[in-house]
Amino acid sequence: MTLLELYTEGRDRLEAAGILTDAAIDARELLLAAFSMSMTQYLLNRDRELPDDQASQTAWERYQDMIGQRSRRIPLQQILGKAEFMGLEFEIDNQVLVPRQDTETLVEQVLADCHGLSMLDLCTGSGCIAVSLAVHGDFAKITATDLSDGALQVAKRNAERHAPGRLVFYQGDLFDALPESGEKYDVITANPPYIPTDVIGGLEPEVKIYEPRLALDGHEDGLYFYRRILSEAGDYLAPDGRIYFEIGYDQAEPVTAIAKAEGYRTVRTCRDLAGNDRVVILER
Ligand code: GLN
Repeated sequence: MTLLELYTEGRDRLEAAGILTDAAIDARELLLAAFSMSMTQYLLNRDRELPDDQASQTAWERYQDMIGQRSRRIPLQQILGKAEFMGLEFEIDNQVLVPRQDTETLVEQVLADCHGLSMLDLCTGSGCIAVSLAVHGDFAKITATDLSDGALQVAKRNAERHAPGRLVFYQGDLFDALPESGEKYDVITANPPYIPTDVIGGLEPEVKIYEPRLALDGHEDGLYFYRRILSEAGDYLAPDGRIYFEIGYDQAEPVTAIAKAEGYRTVRTCRDLAGNDRVVILER
């Protein structure tokens, strides 16, 4: 058996499980992880017979197990326990949403606009927004909150790894999580759950079965958290402060309308790499 044969076999199993576009990439990622090897090592060694030793046997078993998990449609990043976001490796488990490339659009906008300020990241999940802003930006202070204690544990480990001592975390429901200090933030970011409840059932199995429902479900029309954040943010946003929201592809108009009714104006909306509206920037 060679690595190339193992890869091909794994890819075919993933395709048979209905994973079409990503089967090749995922099989290769899992093979590299199972055998703890780099892409270069794989390319140099893929046609060689695997040695008949314990290490190869263990790696082979690990690979088969991982392909089995992926065939059951467990997200690749949950199997690997990590995901890449803004050039950083984030720890991931089934308590947090896998960081999406779409969300990098939000981080890039904040990095371009905001310097030396204090910020608050609501619904932080894995912490990918707050931690990558701590690493790539120059914020004076970064606070992050999440309702899920399991998610916060992951976020704290990601913060410890990439920006030790630079972030403060609180568990709780949106602004209720914060201590009653009267502190105001120059920037509030949030990628809240925004999928309408009825739409979740039609998503890919990876998302609807294995990603935390709490991180996806934006209630009936998907807009529940935008309404709540905008009606409550007044007490927490500094006078010249801004809110950066990630939104669903069809939510720019309704979110802008909710914001307007709450006394905010839209600075701009931004598209993701796929050309969909993805970020709304608001100020008072
Ligand atoms: N963008 C995610 C998805 O499409 C949802 C993120 C969210 O609800 N905040 O699966």
